[in-house]
Amino acid sequence: MPVEREKLEADVLIVGAGPAGLACALRLSQLIEQNSAGGNPPAISAENIYVLEKARELGAHQLSGAIMDPCALRELVQDFEKTAPLDTPVTGDAAYFLSETGSWKLPITPPPLQNHGNYVVSLNRLTKWLGGLVEKAGVNVFTQFAGASLIYEGKGIAGVITEDKGVDKNGKPKDNFTPGYELRSKITVLAEGPRGSLTKNLVNQLHLDGLNPQVYGIGIKELWDVQPGKIETGYVAHTLGWPLDSHKYGGGWIYGLSDNRVSLGMVVGLEYKDSLFDPHEAFQKFKTHPFVRKILEGGKLVRYGAKTVPYGGWHSMPQSYVDGGLIIGDSASLLNSQRLKGIHTAIKSGMLAAEAIYEALAAGNTSANALSAYQKKLEASWIRKELWEVRNFHQGFHDGLWPGLFNAGLQFVSGGRGLTDPARCRPGYQDFRRLDRPRELVDQSTRFKGDGTLTFNRLTDVYHSGTRHEEDQPCHLVVSDPSICADRCVREYGNPCQYYCPAAVYEMVLETGQPKLKINASNCVHCKTCDIADPYQIVNWVPPEGGGGPNYEGM
Ligand SMILES: Cc1cc2nc3c(=O)[nH]c(=O)nc-3n(C[C@H](O)[C@H](O)[C@H](O)COP(=O)(O)OP(=O)(O)OC[C@H]3O[C@@H](n4cnc5c(N)ncnc54)[C@H](O)[C@@H]3O)c2cc1C
Repeated sequence: MPVEREKLEADVLIVGAGPAGLACALRLSQLIEQNSAGGNPPAISAENIYVLEKARELGAHQLSGAIMDPCALRELVQDFEKTAPLDTPVTGDAAYFLSETGSWKLPITPPPLQNHGNYVVSLNRLTKWLGGLVEKAGVNVFTQFAGASLIYEGKGIAGVITEDKGVDKNGKPKDNFTPGYELRSKITVLAEGPRGSLTKNLVNQLHLDGLNPQVYGIGIKELWDVQPGKIETGYVAHTLGWPLDSHKYGGGWIYGLSDNRVSLGMVVGLEYKDSLFDPHEAFQKFKTHPFVRKILEGGKLVRYGAKTVPYGGWHSMPQSYVDGGLIIGDSASLLNSQRLKGIHTAIKSGMLAAEAIYEALAAGNTSANALSAYQKKLEASWIRKELWEVRNFHQGFHDGLWPGLFNAGLQFVSGGRGLTDPARCRPGYQDFRRLDRPRELVDQSTRFKGDGTLTFNRLTDVYHSGTRHEEDQPCHLVVSDPSICADRCVREYGNPCQYYCPAAVYEMVLETGQPKLKINASNCVHCKTCDIADPYQIVNWVPPEGGGGPNYEGM
């Protein structure tokens, strides 16, 4: 039955309150103020800018290492150092190669991993702070509201429908049913971070893919409180090697925060061959290495989280402008994978989008042609310079660590060219090697359990992510054909969803003797790995009821 929806109209609608979306909103409010102060009637007013965020509060879905290059934030908020919640400046950095028991410090920290002048931050806190500035400027920020689907109009977009609230698990309205809003806007900005659900739809519908498809990694992180003296505040270490073999792209990090807090984690490219590889377990093993263990011993796990990282870079950038719409930040493939940094480029892209939007609204022209000014601004900015120099970096690792490092060295001296330019890549899920085995389930009781002190199983970790969802709602992990899981996938790949999901969402169970997929949707930490890595591409991650998901407090 068609649902009667309340209609709201905005000038600018920003979907996603991460660094990109909030920087866009703040820069717009600055342009309004500058124009008013200069005696020009502003093209829009701050009250007509809406920001939607699916998390229960600002910052709750932000997960990052996070070392921030402050260059963009300095452009946006000149005196940010006075009020921004910066945990600590980086005081020293090092890079190590790990074997199972040994560690070798590289004589020189490779330039991309040098962090002098950068800050270690909690992206959760930084986002809350940025959101506070946006709200103070009069912009409407709505948390607990997800953009559920796009409103397509002509050759572009004209807003979003927010998710219906109060629907039961069978799709029936409950007593508290509230239909989603039809939120129309002159310009809709997609700032959904990696693998945005609306962005994915838009890119597919309007064929906006870049030269390469987007490729991703999964990042798994824990925050620990450690004994005093274990690590210096502001000390930053990156590791290569164990427990990842040389065919997997990735590495670990350990950052010393203030008050004896440590951020540590591991990123792994989602393009490995072994479909039974478990990134969560690999991260747990990482903590048992003597180099890491000695820092954590006597400490306590505080928080856990996981999120994907878009590694594709410049050559995976989709066309980021359509009639009435723009794509910014991680959704637009603006992360620098060589530095594992995307906060600064997300902020800058939000600012450039704001400038293009302001000009378009002032001219009364929101066509793709007018909004292509955003792309031109990106290309004229330092973002293009930074990303162009690493445009072939990630692709170089497709055949393993050593060819990748060789290619990275060549790129360093050839301005990003490397061995081939442009280097092509394919979606990572195509790399899974087929197992071709009998249609039998692997005994999951033999899986990694952890010791409960230094290492943990996935459910204990999910508990530390603060994840919460309304239980009685439709499953937000939509598997279009579960018979594939129970028949083909069991045989061909051994159901990799049970392994790559860092939150124990997917389980294959026996029901009357037959394999069946069970989805524990309420564990979902919104990392979107399943949507990306499923070998048959039958998993569609859609936003659950607004407010659901992790709570990455202090992450
Ligand atoms: C493990 C890890 C480590 C990292 N380390 C670093 C680092 O050290 N330094 C660095 O600079 N960068 C780092 N990054 C990258 C950095 O976090 C991102 O580049 C940056 O956060 C991108 O900002 P964004 O605003 O584009 O996206 P996000 O920060 O992902 O924000 C997107 C927001 O949109 C919301 N959203 C998504 N879809 C919807 C929807 N449909 N409706 C409503 N809301 C929606 C999400 O809840 C989220 O709050 C790291 C990333 C990871 C995963």
